[in-house]
Amino acid sequence: QAKQQGKKNYQLFDLEQAQKTSLLHVKLHEIQQALINNEFCLYYQPKVNMASGKLIGVEALIRWQHPVKGLISPLKFLPSIEGTDIEIQVGEWVIDQGMTQLERLNNRGINIEMSVNVSAMQFLNTCFLDSLNAALHRHQNIDSHHFKLEVLESSTLGNLERISKIISACRNDLGVKIALDDFGTGYSSLSHLRQLPADTIKIDQSFVRDVLIDPDDFAIIDGVIGLSKSFSRNVIAEGVESTEHGLMLLLMGCNNAQGYAISKPMPANMLVDWIKEYKPNQTWLNSSEVEMT
Ligand code: C2E
Ligand code: MG
Ligand code: MG
Ligand code: MG
Repeated sequence: QAKQQGKKNYQLFDLEQAQKTSLLHVKLHEIQQALINNEFCLYYQPKVNMASGKLIGVEALIRWQHPVKGLISPLKFLPSIEGTDIEIQVGEWVIDQGMTQLERLNNRGINIEMSVNVSAMQFLNTCFLDSLNAALHRHQNIDSHHFKLEVLESSTLGNLERISKIISACRNDLGVKIALDDFGTGYSSLSHLRQLPADTIKIDQSFVRDVLIDPDDFAIIDGVIGLSKSFSRNVIAEGVESTEHGLMLLLMGCNNAQGYAISKPMPANMLVDWIKEYKPNQTWLNSSEVEMT
């Protein structure tokens, strides 16, 4: 009987697999079509220096503006294009669009940093540096020092030498900076970080979330801040959802922050107004004085 059941389960499993595979094909086709139909867009989330109050830059985050389903999160469609040509195409579109937006901001007298996320596959692709270089040539007006790539810390594991070479080439040959995203989740070692010439370390939001209540998360963040300082890297906390979180990070020595406490990601047409209305003198230090008295 067990055998029979086993066989039944096996058949069921097969059917499920087949359905999953064909669903994936439909999705891939849909995503390719979405790219052609220009249904992707970038939202932008500000990053600020909490000590000075200054706006540092924005991170571009992709969304799919689906004609029927509405706005779709990258977490819902990026996994289905992983490892395919479409991943590269979408990645190239993001870089191009990020540069276009940086150009627009510059034209309005706003000189800040633009960050875009790049996938491991895109970053490791042999054509990546040429493609990035070509994009910079298409957007000659932007200063490449204002363009930054966010690479997941986890994607540097197992590729240390190659990644380190690509990061160096980005910095030295093209002037483009690199941030290690979701830092702390990739379990890379101290010597690992030393070999990665990235400019910035982004503390993962999973540690930030409970920094006020969980001593382990506090200790991890404290360690990452210390590490960044020892290696002369910039450090920024992501997922800063409240003033209390921001103040804690500031007290711990992390000046830079990104998160809902500052702003949610917003569409391009709201960004310039947001920046114009943002007051650099609303420093977090001042607000701490208000709250502590
Ligand atoms: P990420 O690069 O770590 O981006 C931060 C994510 O946290 C974003 O989610 C952002 O909307 C969200 N976030 C920002 N502040 C807060 C906060 O205070 N609280 C909470 N709970 N969340 C916050 P999003 O836009 O859904 O993107 C998710 C991930 O998808 C990104 O994580 C990134 O890894 C990936 N991604 C997004 N756009 C792209 C892209 O253009 N290319 C690639 N390869 N990956 C992308
Ligand atoms: Mg990111
Ligand atoms: Mg992140
Ligand atoms: Mg993330």
